[in-house]
Amino acid sequence: MSRFGEARFLLSVASLAQLPADAGAEVAFAGRSNSGKSSAINAITRRRGLARTSKLPGRTRLLNFFELAPAQRLVDLPGYGYASVTAAEREAWLPLLDALRARSSLKGLVLVVDSRRGLTQSDEAFVEWARDAQGLHVLLSKADKLNRSEAAAALRSASERLGSRATAQLFSALRGTGIREAQEKISAWLSLASSGSDAP
Ligand code: GDP
Repeated sequence: MSRFGEARFLLSVASLAQLPADAGAEVAFAGRSNSGKSSAINAITRRRGLARTSKLPGRTRLLNFFELAPAQRLVDLPGYGYASVTAAEREAWLPLLDALRARSSLKGLVLVVDSRRGLTQSDEAFVEWARDAQGLHVLLSKADKLNRSEAAAALRSASERLGSRATAQLFSALRGTGIREAQEKISAWLSLASSGSDAP
C-alpha cells in the first residue's frame, strides 16, 4: 500500500479546460461539508495536510487532484450543502462534475457520510447522480462517536438504503477504523486502469 504514502497535490481545476488528460485512473471523494471528507482523504493517504481541513472559501469549491503514482489520481470534490453557494457557483460546477463522471479514467466515487446522521437528502441525490459512474463506495465517517451496536445499526441501515447502488463501510479517521478496507477498495479501482494498457 506504499502508494498511499506518496500522494502529492497535482492541481486545482475550476473549468473544463483545466481537467487533466483523461488517461490512467482516478477515484473521486465527495460528501457534505463537515462530513469528514478531508480527514478521510488525509487518513487514507497518510498525509495529514494533503486535503486541507481548514476550509478556505474558493479553494474548496474547486476540484483538487492528487497524484498517488503516475496516472493514478485522487480527486477531492467540493463539499456540498453550503447554504452560501450561489446559483452561479453551482452552475459552474455542475458541468465540471458531469464531465468528471463521464471520464473513462474515473474508476469510482467515494461518498463520505457522517455515521451519526446517515444519508441525508443531498447524499441521496449524489447517490442517484453516481449511478452513471462506474462504482460508488460509502464511508460512514466519525464511527468513533458511535458505540458498537449503534455503529452496526448505522452500517445496516445505510447498506439497506443503498442496496445495489453502492457498497458501504464504517470509518474513523480519528481511530483509524476502516482505513485499510477503504485503501483496498480504492487500490482495486485504481488498478483497473492498467488492465487495458499494461496487458501483455
Ligand atoms: P469536511 O468538511 O467534510 O472535509 O470535514 P473535515 O475532515 O474537515 O471534518 C469536519 C469535522 O469533523 C472536524 O471538526 C473534524 O475534526 C471532525 N472529524 C473528522 N473525522 C473525524 C473522525 O473520524 N472522528 C471524529 N470524532 N471527528 C472527526
